[in-house]
Amino acid sequence: MAKLTRIKESRKPRKLTLSPTKLNTYLSCRLAYKYTYIDRIGRFFYKPKSFHTFGATLHRALDEFHKQGGAHTQSADDLVNTMRSMWSDVGYGSKLEETEHLAAAEQLLGQYHQEHIIEGAKTLFTEKQLRVDMGEFVLMGRVDRIDEHADGSLEIIDYKSGRLHVTEEEVRQDLAMGVYTLLASRLFAGRRITATIYALRSNQKATVEHTTDELAELEAMIRLLAAEIAQVDRDSDIEPTWKPDICPYCDYLRLCRKSAGWEEPSTE
Ligand code: SF4
Repeated sequence: MAKLTRIKESRKPRKLTLSPTKLNTYLSCRLAYKYTYIDRIGRFFYKPKSFHTFGATLHRALDEFHKQGGAHTQSADDLVNTMRSMWSDVGYGSKLEETEHLAAAEQLLGQYHQEHIIEGAKTLFTEKQLRVDMGEFVLMGRVDRIDEHADGSLEIIDYKSGRLHVTEEEVRQDLAMGVYTLLASRLFAGRRITATIYALRSNQKATVEHTTDELAELEAMIRLLAAEIAQVDRDSDIEPTWKPDICPYCDYLRLCRKSAGWEEPSTE
């Protein structure tokens, strides 16, 4: 008994860990954050979605492609075959939907291969986890790819498998890209860092370099959010609030509908 008490006393509360996904979930809905990261009930409500499976398959295939040496050692057929070997039918509503996605994946990976070799750039990391202890919390994020350019600068690349277009302004406003840049600026101090979103479906990219002021502003915002998020615990009483652009697509809709008494939509 005395031993158990000592173990309990010596157990420190774990430091809050924040990632772009956690921050975005909290900003979208505090209750969804609590359900997912505090109550940890997500697995009971998660419904497989084709866009998740499609994106995850492409990410894994590209990770493997770069680990095997990229376009220098891998042909476009190799890349497509790697993707095919990882293909999963989870979340697709029909065989037709799955076949269309498979054809799209083959086409966009072919394009990716063609465009891949950028003069003077080499891929340093894929699926790289960046992590920095910020004092009150730990900030982390998993980056799809980091390239090093001939001038020593680093380019953080994030693949988007569902998007057709991307603008510089969108990259600048993207919370995840800001977090990755903030982390990279700490971990690779002194290097110039740029951030790129790569829309795989159209092979379109947009790249920005965040200013020091932008990163300082982002860090201040994350510190404020972290202090707020740290207050959420199992006892937090958060009422469901209807958000028309989020709730209809949320995995917890059934639960919130029940607890808030929201009416089921008419099927007529
Ligand atoms: S259904 Fe709406 S209120 Fe409920 S967790 Fe999801 S986003 Fe939040």
